[in-house]
Amino acid sequence: MLNMENNKHKNHYVNDFLNGAINGNGHANGHHGKNGHNGQVNVLELEELGDNHVGTSLDTPMREDAFVMDDDQKMELIEKHFREIMHILGLDLEDDSLSGTPHRVAKMYVKEIFSGLNPANKPRIALFDNKYQYNQMLVEKDITLYSFCEHHFVPIIGRAHVAYISNGKVVGLSKINRIVQYFAKRPQVQERLTKQIVEELKTVLQTEDVAVVIEAEHLCVAARGVEDVNSKTVTVEYSGKFEDRSVREEFLAHVRG
Ligand SMILES: [Zn+2]
Repeated sequence: MLNMENNKHKNHYVNDFLNGAINGNGHANGHHGKNGHNGQVNVLELEELGDNHVGTSLDTPMREDAFVMDDDQKMELIEKHFREIMHILGLDLEDDSLSGTPHRVAKMYVKEIFSGLNPANKPRIALFDNKYQYNQMLVEKDITLYSFCEHHFVPIIGRAHVAYISNGKVVGLSKINRIVQYFAKRPQVQERLTKQIVEELKTVLQTEDVAVVIEAEHLCVAARGVEDVNSKTVTVEYSGKFEDRSVREEFLAHVRG
């Protein structure tokens, strides 16, 4: 249910978004944009930045009011705007095959592929005592991940390899998987995704000794732009004991093996 107050909020967002786009400031923050001087140059610079997949921060850049709207309100608005995009592209939304697409896309964005934006969806992780006194590294490899490039909104398909050395506590293996999926379900850059997983594991496991390697294909590289269908991007993040070369090599040997 939308009340008047929320409707006001909604219009506010929409206007902000349009101002942002018009000012050549793609981040929907027309009020406090950093690039106010020359719209044309800025659009080109930002395009360049995005095409080179340069990210700018460890935290996913989000506004403070990101969750003023609930999921239903977000889906309603996204559906409306996605219908508009399809309409602009010239598609016939009366066609049976297309008429349900705006709703499907809106639901997919909010409930599935971008559900990791909402901290309420963060997996709750129970810790167990390390009863077996297993003090070696634990490697969880080949975790399939599907994420989305934040510069083009097309899929990043890859595998994550995660390792940690217990500091007296352990987690269920499926939880490592769920942490990876949570951070993958956001518009991402691969470097940030890698770091966010490491930071979360360090917090959850109460240890510095964490390593993550992600190898992924970016469909924005494979299907557009340079159209390289074979290239893969590898990102690594080592912390604590994994900064030690021999520990790192042991981990990588497990990953390759
Ligand atoms: Zn991209």
